[in-house]
Amino acid sequence: SAPALRKPNWIRVKLAAPEAVGKVRAVLREQGLHSVCEEAACPNLSECFSHGTATFMVLGDICTRRCPFCDVAHGKPKPPDAEEPARLARAVAELGLRYVVVTSVDRDDLRDGGAGHFAACVAALRAAQPSIQVEILTPDFRGRLDAALEALAAAPPDVFNHNLETVPRLYRAVRPGADYQVSLDLLRRFRERMAGVPTKSGLMLGLGETLEEVREVMAHLRAHGCDLLTLGQYLQPSPDHLPVIRYVTPEEFAELAEAARAMGFRDVASGPLVRSSYGAEQLLKGGAG
Ligand code: SF4
Ligand code: SF4
Repeated sequence: SAPALRKPNWIRVKLAAPEAVGKVRAVLREQGLHSVCEEAACPNLSECFSHGTATFMVLGDICTRRCPFCDVAHGKPKPPDAEEPARLARAVAELGLRYVVVTSVDRDDLRDGGAGHFAACVAALRAAQPSIQVEILTPDFRGRLDAALEALAAAPPDVFNHNLETVPRLYRAVRPGADYQVSLDLLRRFRERMAGVPTKSGLMLGLGETLEEVREVMAHLRAHGCDLLTLGQYLQPSPDHLPVIRYVTPEEFAELAEAARAMGFRDVASGPLVRSSYGAEQLLKGGAG
């Protein structure tokens, strides 16, 4: 295979504050939870934690799909743990978090794709701390959309996030189990059903897409009512994952953000180190950029 591209100097990983990481790790272990922040060794960890934000992965750490950009293990997942929402709520209270992102692996084995578990998590978090803001970052619920929307409506989040990840031309290579239009329909139908809850989506750049293709995707998102957008650089988790084809420059990220605002997105976070959950609270309030 081709030698890896050299990382440009704008991909600098900010080292996390060790005390903050240590505390989070201890609470997570105690409650038997997984945080994406810690497991993905996210470069924004200290910044997010100091703002009271973190991303938790529920429904286990084994995925029924295998996307070649993703570091999550593939296999047969365990049944959902009915105690997990309560443990999540305890961990969030203990860590004093104000804005929580709840995400999961893909659960094609469940009738509602895990949507009922998401709703249970939102309900438990709100019951424990009424002022909490919860964003859910969900799989596509492909083939289970009606059941999933029904289940999610039991406890709507403050933000509904579902990532398109890449442009349609690259779906077969990047999201082999997914379908571009199914993902767009999920965003549109959530918005129709849960009026007033902002919807959000994101893409990883640097997988071989053109900037023109990215602008087309942004237009499709707007046509499906999507309110908030994140654009970040794809980074290869290991040599066995999809290679980085290109490092998009900070200037290009800024131009795309400007184009997105002109298209009517309520807010946009666009930059090399932006992750789907980065600056989520500020983005909701319209302050990130
Ligand atoms: Fe966690 Fe997301 Fe912040 Fe990274 S950007 S530390 S994954 S909340
Ligand atoms: Fe990773 Fe999500 Fe793909 Fe599963 S569906 S492999 S968690 S990106």
